[in-house]
Amino acid sequence: IVAKCAGFCPGVKRAIDLVLELSEKRKKKIYTLGPLIHNRQVIKTLLAKNIISINRLEEIEEKNAILVIRAHGVSPETEKEMRQKNFEIIDSTCPLVKKVHSNINHWTKKGYTTIIVGDKNHAEVVGLIGWAQKNCFVVSGPAEAEKLPSLDKVNIVAQTTQEEDIFKQTAEIIRQKSKEAVISDTICQPTKDRQRETIKFARDSDLVIVVGGKHSANTQRLYQICARLSPKVLLAETDEEINETALNGAKKIFITAGASTPNWMIEKIVKKTRKLTRKSESFFTQKLAYIWNVIITSSLFTAISAMCLTYICMKFQNFLVDLKFVLLSGLFVGSLHLFNRIEEKGANIPDEVQTMLFAKHKKTAKLAAVVAGTVSILISLSFSFYAFLLTAAFWLAGTFYPYKALKFSKFLNFPASKDIVTSLGWAFVCAGIPAISNNALSYKSTHLAILFAILIVFIRSTLMGISNVHNDMMIGKENFYKAAGPRPTYIIIFLTFIFIETLFVSLMQIGYNKEIIRRVSYSLAYYLGLLLIFIFGKIPRRVLSETAIDFQFLLSWSLLVTL
Ligand code: SF4
Repeated sequence: IVAKCAGFCPGVKRAIDLVLELSEKRKKKIYTLGPLIHNRQVIKTLLAKNIISINRLEEIEEKNAILVIRAHGVSPETEKEMRQKNFEIIDSTCPLVKKVHSNINHWTKKGYTTIIVGDKNHAEVVGLIGWAQKNCFVVSGPAEAEKLPSLDKVNIVAQTTQEEDIFKQTAEIIRQKSKEAVISDTICQPTKDRQRETIKFARDSDLVIVVGGKHSANTQRLYQICARLSPKVLLAETDEEINETALNGAKKIFITAGASTPNWMIEKIVKKTRKLTRKSESFFTQKLAYIWNVIITSSLFTAISAMCLTYICMKFQNFLVDLKFVLLSGLFVGSLHLFNRIEEKGANIPDEVQTMLFAKHKKTAKLAAVVAGTVSILISLSFSFYAFLLTAAFWLAGTFYPYKALKFSKFLNFPASKDIVTSLGWAFVCAGIPAISNNALSYKSTHLAILFAILIVFIRSTLMGISNVHNDMMIGKENFYKAAGPRPTYIIIFLTFIFIETLFVSLMQIGYNKEIIRRVSYSLAYYLGLLLIFIFGKIPRRVLSETAIDFQFLLSWSLLVTL
């Protein structure tokens, strides 16, 4: 069993995305005071991108460097000291840690002594002490709380990754020792969820593998929780620590991970565990999985999806399906998708297919994208000069989009731009080009096809963004999910479904081809199901996610092709 909550917490993910985005957009050197997160493997990948961890501000030699405040946050004095130097300061303090800062600040100003339940040497706690203006005590648990003197007015807070039970017991002891006590449970929700899930599954397991940095406080805490509940616990930083002796014939294994553990490391450990417990796939399945990964990663499946959407739009428009339009859309979308994919970045380590396509054969991949794009533009020339100009303009805009340092790309990279531009691009080639070539731009059926394409691709693109976040890929505010946050994103996707279905119902009433509309409408139940899995279940790994998302187009096409 692999924990649903395993992997980067939102605060860590946010900090990593922020520095990766900076390294992509800016030419300056980026420094973090202390490691950005407590995971050696991630720090190594960040160093390769020129993001350097330092221990003292004096270590920075450049005048115009960027200095990043970590997710743990810092004390007001440290922040002041940082700002006095002439660096550009970027604050990646987790908003949930900031909440603790304001809590302490509020009660300190009212004269309350702060009691922090946490590890006094941890960076987050060092920051919290600063906010308490040194009028505070740090205790690690009930035993140290017993040793505290009698106190007057106290505000009891927790390090955000503290264990819930320890905090409750400690707070109760302090409450009894004080005249007046405010108990502020500042353990963050992602930590609570992770610990509760761990407690639930560790109890029934023969072996728990906790994946994460050995010097990470929250990973250590998970390890301690599991050690109390399971007969055997293994703390593994990398897959090299997993071997037959370590697994020792365990039948039921639970794998969980700390907040600073990347998904790719969890995946490696799951794979090795499966292999050693003979739950691994056969040679044939492995080969098949590899081939499918190539199809997905090379954007071939996305190209096929665009071809399916063109077919659906042409059916909506009552056009005879001309394969030239279908081919053009596949080449156009596949080419731009590949271009963007080559430039994708994140905290994940590329898998073997990504390494093969985008590291070893990067030039070939780019050439393939250019050739596919050029062929699509040439096909458009066979329709009309107008179609040719528009296709070329859209394609050029799409190829510049991933290069955020360019002025032109900056103009295109507004919030949610990726999902909007992608929807418009797909709608243009899948519904617009056939309409332009058939002189049918003013037809109502064309408007329906374009609107449908924009909305369905918007849902697709947003779901892809969500999947990327959960697979440790870097996504910026140009993705709707990142710009709006999870709840508004899911509400908007849901409302888009309702809008499409309402549109379909009204179109059937005014005489549109009922069978076509009905079949596409039924097929959308698939996307609705997928959305529910994304909200309530575990978001699948990259290849499976992309397969599931783009399968919608194949499904709608397969229902129409039999008509
Ligand atoms: Fe933020 Fe919680 Fe993660 Fe700390 S553990 S960075 S408070 S989400």
